[in-house]
Amino acid sequence: MTSSVLQGRVLLLNGSSWEPLSIISVPRALNLILAGKAIAVEQSGNYVRTVRDKFPVPSVIALRTYVNVPRRKAHWSRKGVLIRDDYVCIYCGVRPGKIAKGKVISKSDFTIDHILPKSRGGKDTWTNTACACAACNHRKGNRLPNEAGMKLRWEPKTPRTSYLVVAVGSGPDVWKRYIEY
Ligand SMILES: [Zn+2]
Repeated sequence: MTSSVLQGRVLLLNGSSWEPLSIISVPRALNLILAGKAIAVEQSGNYVRTVRDKFPVPSVIALRTYVNVPRRKAHWSRKGVLIRDDYVCIYCGVRPGKIAKGKVISKSDFTIDHILPKSRGGKDTWTNTACACAACNHRKGNRLPNEAGMKLRWEPKTPRTSYLVVAVGSGPDVWKRYIEY
């Protein structure tokens, strides 16, 4: 077996709801599949080989049955907001890779905008914060969007499913579709 493949991480989803439950090791994921307790939902494209066999290594697996676990709410964090908004500016829609003022925009060019500014009592909550580019954030300043003549391109929402929003959102791209907003 190749050890690097085994060091990967696998997203474990609940049965039927497909809600992210946790992030587990490859050996644990393979054990759950071999024991008939989980199915592979997304493959990683990697394989582990034994003397006789070759197993596809999953990237996402789901339990065969639903387990009743208390829903754990996503804690607000700056990183979580950026991941929720996929690094797209809520005001102008610019995203990483686009060119602005002759420069390629990168993820580090984005910040968190407080829709109701902090100086006016706005809180660090999922619904009061969104990803914004530095230019829009600067332009809006201490104003509400309508005062600045700016429009929200979407309504910022609290992640419905998972306390794992940052961990899942920082994982492979295929994981992101299992976060619900
Ligand atoms: Zn912008």
